[in-house]
Amino acid sequence: MDLEFGPAQKAFQDEVRSFIAQRLPVDIRERLKAGHPPRKQDVVTWQRILNDRGWAAPHWPARYGGAELGQAERLILMDELYRAPAPLPQVFNITMLGPVLMKFGTPEQCEYFLPKLANLDIWFCQGFSEPGSGSDLASLRTNARREGDQYVVNGQKIWTTTAHWADWVFALVRTDPDARKQEGISFLLIDLTSPGITIRPIVSIDGEHHLNEVFFDDVRVPAANLVGQENRGWDCAKFLLSNERTGIANVGLCRERLVHARELAERTREAGELLIESPRLQVELAALDAEIRALEITNWRYLLTPSLQQEQPAFASILKLKGVELQQEINALLARLAGPSGLERRPADDVAQGPLTPRYFYSRAASIYGGTSEVQKDILARSIVG
Ligand SMILES: Cc1cc2nc3c(=O)[nH]c(=O)nc-3n(C[C@H](O)[C@H](O)[C@H](O)COP(=O)(O)OP(=O)(O)OC[C@H]3O[C@@H](n4cnc5c(N)ncnc54)[C@H](O)[C@@H]3O)c2cc1C
Repeated sequence: MDLEFGPAQKAFQDEVRSFIAQRLPVDIRERLKAGHPPRKQDVVTWQRILNDRGWAAPHWPARYGGAELGQAERLILMDELYRAPAPLPQVFNITMLGPVLMKFGTPEQCEYFLPKLANLDIWFCQGFSEPGSGSDLASLRTNARREGDQYVVNGQKIWTTTAHWADWVFALVRTDPDARKQEGISFLLIDLTSPGITIRPIVSIDGEHHLNEVFFDDVRVPAANLVGQENRGWDCAKFLLSNERTGIANVGLCRERLVHARELAERTREAGELLIESPRLQVELAALDAEIRALEITNWRYLLTPSLQQEQPAFASILKLKGVELQQEINALLARLAGPSGLERRPADDVAQGPLTPRYFYSRAASIYGGTSEVQKDILARSIVG
């Protein structure tokens, strides 16, 4: 497949590049470049700058603040954001919930929520997984009992990324305990300031607080916050998960981290020699670069060929698996290059080298979220066996 951009795409890439160069606050770029995760305020600040330009929700219709970008332009935008590096548009709002509301929500829900999602006036998190219900999501047990014009929610979610930053959660809840497991689930929007909600931190292996447990104890939710039909929440969930595919391979992230690895090797000495002078390292960097290029071509081929997506949905599993492997390999290389200094903890606004070894540890989680590697391999095996 020819991956040279046409003149219109090249012009769009230049436009994005110069927008980012002019508008991305230097402190945010420096923090991300050093390997720190973005702070909440970084994501909010940058998303609002993007939203002014219509690029916070690049694929949404213009009436909700989107830019109606096609798949190729959307990929170019994402790659440039990774390359900068800049925070990406908040995934739960933009990639997950927004399209679900447009497809299944009421006009009132769309009018109220979509502009706020685009501008990050409301931060949503995703309340799907529960203890014992991750890969087998349809076994979830958090229940919502209808009482008049409200639902009363009881149960627990886990691994809820950024719940401690969030204003709302979109959650899958069981509304019919007697139905077949996929058929008794509903999709609810829950205000996290509602009485009866407790959020507890889970500190991960990188020493950071990204994840949470969320408990619901007789939480009252207006029935108007149901998205789609009662007991048809599984349709919303399937649609939502199929929308995650654009970013699934994380090509831009791999490339940005590899550039950082090369730069680190160019300024780090061991026994008087710059690390980059090692022929072995140069071969390793070249091999990773070639792997990223191959993944990039595969990603573009898949995303720009609608028939391939329909006829071979298992292809997405290859992108997820290979993307994760590369991401982990590059993070491992960065940790190796940094040596003991990669373990140093530094404040998030210290723009010297960030916590590269903790970041490597956390990158192990990429083979779990968004569908575990074993489950992806199952999907591939089944698609081959037929
Ligand atoms: C960093 C991180 C962030 C997350 N963020 C969120 C979030 O914001 N919101 C949310 O709802 N969830 C989130 N999750 C949860 C995530 O979706 C689940 O962890 C994931 O679906 C796996 O489920 P589980 O943890 O219950 O493990 P399990 O499904 O119990 O899996 C345990 C092991 O068994 C294997 N296994 C399971 N089923 C099969 C099978 N059929 N065939 C072969 N092997 C199998 C798995 O691969 C795994 O190795 C996050 C997870 C992580 C690690």
